[in-house]
Amino acid sequence: MHILILGAGYAGLRAALDLAEAKRAGELGEVTVTLVDRNDYHQVITWLHEVAAASVAPDKARIPLEQLLGAGGVAFHQATVRGIAPREQRVLLADSEALSYDRLVVALGSITAWPPIEGLREHALPMRWWDEAVRLREAVLHNFALAAEMEDEAERKRLLTLVVAGGGYTGCQLAGEMAHWVPELADHFGLSLLELTLRQIEARERLMPGWDERLADKAERILRRKGVQILLNSPLERLDAQTMTLKGKNPMPYGLLIWAGGVQAPPLLKDSGFTTGVQGRAEVDAYLRAKEYPDVFVIGDASLWMEGDKPLPGTASHALRQGEYVARMIRRQIQGKGLADYEPTNLGLMVSLGGSDGVGIALGIPLSGVTAGILKEGIESWYLSTIGAD
Ligand SMILES: Cc1cc2nc3c(=O)[nH]c(=O)nc-3n(C[C@H](O)[C@H](O)[C@H](O)COP(=O)(O)OP(=O)(O)OC[C@H]3O[C@@H](n4cnc5c(N)ncnc54)[C@H](O)[C@@H]3O)c2cc1C
Repeated sequence: MHILILGAGYAGLRAALDLAEAKRAGELGEVTVTLVDRNDYHQVITWLHEVAAASVAPDKARIPLEQLLGAGGVAFHQATVRGIAPREQRVLLADSEALSYDRLVVALGSITAWPPIEGLREHALPMRWWDEAVRLREAVLHNFALAAEMEDEAERKRLLTLVVAGGGYTGCQLAGEMAHWVPELADHFGLSLLELTLRQIEARERLMPGWDERLADKAERILRRKGVQILLNSPLERLDAQTMTLKGKNPMPYGLLIWAGGVQAPPLLKDSGFTTGVQGRAEVDAYLRAKEYPDVFVIGDASLWMEGDKPLPGTASHALRQGEYVARMIRRQIQGKGLADYEPTNLGLMVSLGGSDGVGIALGIPLSGVTAGILKEGIESWYLSTIGAD
């Protein structure tokens, strides 16, 4: 039997490590496990805003898979997945290569969603992957270096205007982190703090829509205290190289705009014939299997699990627990046992807001300030220890 896992992120890596351990313990018999990813490293996505704002070194957030899979039990194949042919039990890779499987675990995460806003794709910077976070950090440094040489005051101020577009938790984390970094940069380049602008824009009436309102209010207060100008009810309508236009407003100059306005599942799910719903995520049954294909599990951000009428949010915490669950179910299948229903564990969400600040809900208890920030750091260290990266 061949178990193929697509994606070495939070969900896929967890599934691979658990199956590898079972294989080494002799629980899987003749089964082979292959993990496919286009990169030869695991990305610590929950650190990307810190990579972008220079509070975490880039290489810390990119861990070689060779190191993580060193104990054996799983083969790694570096390739880009182009499509899935579920009826033929085959995965199509770049360069016309294909891999066949008996059980497939799709854990390809999500991609930046680009709504049809004029100029957005051409001029905004995304931050969904490690290389994009590194590019963003370089772009900020570049703008400050240019500003330091710029004699024209209006142009200098434009270069020093950073906009985070999107008030979800990713946007909040990035704005909080940038609020700490940009004054340090101004000092380093001999620029006046008075010429810096850090702005966060959100189309809806509050930050972190969809999450607990108390959490969102606290996040807003903390970010404003750190000097972030928050513009709510401000949908972005148009972007050109130097100005952004918010609904009902005149164009405003900006230096860099980071698009943190949402994610969607990779289109290859729909293109491969899976039934998809909200954000293009694949609909799954009670065991996280793709509706029409019982030999295909879909987990992490790519999977659409409904809790009542609400989709389970895409978080690292849900992704890694789904990876754990699927590895357990595959083991049960191999041992001839039945499947147990998937039940999501809502441990909460911790949002870092720069320095040691944060907000969050842990096991239903709202937290904010340094307690939340320190707890988030603790969760991240714990995560690294669970994948053998500490
Ligand atoms: C900046 C940022 C900060 C975040 N902070 C938090 C946080 O603090 N807490 C939290 O719980 N969640 C956070 N999230 C959300 C969290 O990171 C995601 O929910 C989580 O990564 C989902 O895990 P996954 O395994 O589904 O996907 P991922 O971890 O994204 O893994 C997907 C993997 O698939 C690979 N891949 C994708 N497409 C292909 C392809 N075509 N071919 C081959 N390989 C492919 C990728 O290289 C990647 O390794 C954050 C997200 C972002 C963007």
